[in-house]
Amino acid sequence: TEPAQRRVAVITGGASGIGRATAVAFAAAGVDTVIGFHSADPHDPGRTVAAVAAAGGRCVAVEADVAGSAGPERLAQAAVDTYGGLDIAVAAAGILRRAPLADLSDAAWEGMLGVDLTGVMRTFRSAAARMTGPGALLAVSSIAGGVYGWGDHAHYAAAKAGVLGLVRSLAVELAPRGIRANSVIPGLIETPQSLDEHNSLGPEGLRAAGAAIPAGRVGRPEEVAAAIRFLCAPEASYITGQELIVDGGLTVR
Ligand code: NAD
Repeated sequence: TEPAQRRVAVITGGASGIGRATAVAFAAAGVDTVIGFHSADPHDPGRTVAAVAAAGGRCVAVEADVAGSAGPERLAQAAVDTYGGLDIAVAAAGILRRAPLADLSDAAWEGMLGVDLTGVMRTFRSAAARMTGPGALLAVSSIAGGVYGWGDHAHYAAAKAGVLGLVRSLAVELAPRGIRANSVIPGLIETPQSLDEHNSLGPEGLRAAGAAIPAGRVGRPEEVAAAIRFLCAPEASYITGQELIVDGGLTVR
C-alpha cells in the first residue's frame, strides 16, 4: 500500500498539556509539527520535541507568543521554511485566571481575550494565509465557554465562547478553499492549567470533581489529543464548523 501522505501542523501552546499531547498524537499519524511556546513559559518545549522524536515523528519548537501577531506569523512561516508547507493549525495556547466580576479589571479582561480569543484568530489567520491546498483549523475551547457555567471565570468563559463563533464563521468562509474549521470542548483534563490551585481546581479539587463525572475520573491530555487528531485528519473531510465535547460525560449527566 501507498504510505499515507505526510502533512504539516502548527500547534500553539505545544510545550505542555493538550498541545504537547497533540504533537505526539500527530507523530503517530504522519503529521510533522512546529510547536509554538511562550518565552515566559515555565514548560520546556524540548520535552515535546523529544517525545515526538520518541514516537517516530518530526517536531521543531519556535517562540510564538499569541498575544501579538508576530508570534503566530513566525510559527506559520517556520512550517513552510522547515517542511515546505502547512496543512493544519491547532490553537491550544491559553491562559486561565480566577477573577470574580468585582475584581475583573479592564486590563485583566483584555489580557484574557487577547490570548484566549484573539490569539486563536491570529493563529488561524497566519496559518490559513500559507495553506495552498485542503487544510484544517482546530480550536481548543472549553465547557466553560460552550455548555457549562463556571463562576469567577467570566473573561475565560467569554473568550472560550467567542472561539466557537470564530470557528463557525471560518468554516463557512474557508470551505471553498477546502479548509475545515472545528473546535474541541474539553471538560476537566489534568494539565498544568487545571492543577493550578489558585486559578483552577488544583489536585484535590480535580480528584473530587472526577468522582462526580460519569467516567469516574478527570481526563488525560491524550484523550483530547485523540479527538483533535481525528478532526484534523482526512477521514474527517466532511466535518466542519463542529464542536466535539470531550468530558467523560460531565455535561450530559
Ligand atoms: P497548559 O497550561 O498546559 O497549556 C497551555 C499552554 O499555552 C502552555 O504551554 C502555556 O505556556 C501556553 N501559553 C500561555 N499563554 C501563551 C501565550 N500568550 N502565547 C503562547 N502560548 C501561551 O494547559 P492545557 O490544559 O493543556 O491548556 C490547553 C488549552 O486547553 C487551553 O486553551 C485551555 O484553556 C484549554 N482547556 C483546558 C482544560 C483543562 O481542564 N485542562 C479544559 C478546557 C479547555
